[in-house]
Amino acid sequence: MSKFDYDLFVIGGGSGGVRAARMAALAGARVALAEEDRLGGTCVIRGCIPKKLLVYASQFAENIQDAKGYGWDFGACRFDWPTLIANKDREIARLEGLYRGAVEKAGVTVLGDRAVFEDPHTLRLLNCGKLVTAEKILIATGNTPTRDLGASHVISGSELCITSNEAFHLKELPRRILIAGGGYIALEFAHIFHGLGAKVSLVYRGEKPLRGFDDDMRDALCASMQQRGIEVLLGCEFTKIEKRDNCLHAETNQGGKIDCDQIMVAIGRRPNTMALHVEKAGVELGKKGEVVVDDYSRTSAPNIFAVGDVTDRLQLTPVAIHEAMCFVETAFRNNPTRPDHEHVPSAVFTTPELAAVGLTEEKALGLGHPIDVYKSTFRPLLHTLGGREVRTLMKLIVHAVTGRVLGCHIFGDHAAEIVQTAAIALRLGAAKTDFDRTIALHPTAAEELVTMRTKAYSRKP
Ligand code: NDP
Repeated sequence: MSKFDYDLFVIGGGSGGVRAARMAALAGARVALAEEDRLGGTCVIRGCIPKKLLVYASQFAENIQDAKGYGWDFGACRFDWPTLIANKDREIARLEGLYRGAVEKAGVTVLGDRAVFEDPHTLRLLNCGKLVTAEKILIATGNTPTRDLGASHVISGSELCITSNEAFHLKELPRRILIAGGGYIALEFAHIFHGLGAKVSLVYRGEKPLRGFDDDMRDALCASMQQRGIEVLLGCEFTKIEKRDNCLHAETNQGGKIDCDQIMVAIGRRPNTMALHVEKAGVELGKKGEVVVDDYSRTSAPNIFAVGDVTDRLQLTPVAIHEAMCFVETAFRNNPTRPDHEHVPSAVFTTPELAAVGLTEEKALGLGHPIDVYKSTFRPLLHTLGGREVRTLMKLIVHAVTGRVLGCHIFGDHAAEIVQTAAIALRLGAAKTDFDRTIALHPTAAEELVTMRTKAYSRKP
């Protein structure tokens, strides 16, 4: 009989925590999970899923416009934000129920409470005041949007801004919104609000958004945003934000003075380790407050592990789930398994989408690979009758000596769906000749990936 209340205590009911709890319970462990909010975490409650629903909503205006070229006329159309938000909330509640059902069915005890460390094996449940003990503890507390616009200069007024958390629950659609940041969230919400009819300005401090993505893709996205009517202010930062009458007033380092309904900050997320008292358990934190883990997601305390965003490795739901599965293999199935963070595909759900797997040109060169670059740009068939000037860009980065495809980058309709499949090929180590030998599926956009024959250029490190 174990001297602990549980074999595993999971702190946090997001993608990583729920998966780990469920799989450990199915492996025979006695598991409890504490989540003071709703089950599902960022992804289900205030991230990927509601975001994608909003992305779909934002694309209908364009689709209706395109339909005219195909002979359709829908007459006058109007959009109702409260209906969208209510329907979205209903779907999120349904999904939360499914999450809860699955985890409870596996035999996990779900506690609607906040757990903090007392020592390496003991947690205090803050709401009910009880102490619980566990042989192993998993920290899966995720992360939260940062509002600190003052990293490079001090400004007041960031408390007047919203983050993505609040964007999902606005009472009304802003007519005019400024979005600070140049990462996934800023770009996705810029397109969502623009597509729904708001006037949007992206305020980004760097020279082009999406640092870390392929330069050609970043340029194509930037040009597309401007063409659509999203204002992109580069090298731009807020110097002042204040409330004036019924609006917010913002000033920028470029002399801009803008009145708007909302200002959204999407400038990164910080790990949820504040007030967790990990120091009482001997768990080391990194500079950003992330839980430092080894290759097996083990923290500096031997019985405590951490997975997902709180470890600040790759902040992506499928990665957290993968880390959770590896954790269960390691800690409960006697099969030490390292999470594999290579060939992770990702997409920015702009309109159109930007998706990638593998290395960018710069990354490949930085790793010492000589490369051949293949590119294709074309107008998707849909838009010929639709009439809009939309172009897709596809790019393959190929190792010049081995012929192996190192990276696949797409900016265009359905990029995420295509890249998910291309990721299998890259995972299997496919060479460009394997792409070339694959018969095209016609007429699709994806067929361009297997019909690119002419090298655009070569580069050496
Ligand atoms: P990101 O890390 O993607 O981007 C942060 C952006 O904010 C960067 O452009 C950064 O600029 C800028 N920034 C950072 N600090 C400041 C500051 N003090 N003032 C002004 N700008 C600043 O963060 P997000 O919040 O967009 O998203 C967090 C993570 O969530 C992502 O990294 C991603 O992993 C995940 N995510 C994934 C999605 C998906 O898979 N589709 C969707 C949404 C989120 P600079 O580049 O100059 O540093």
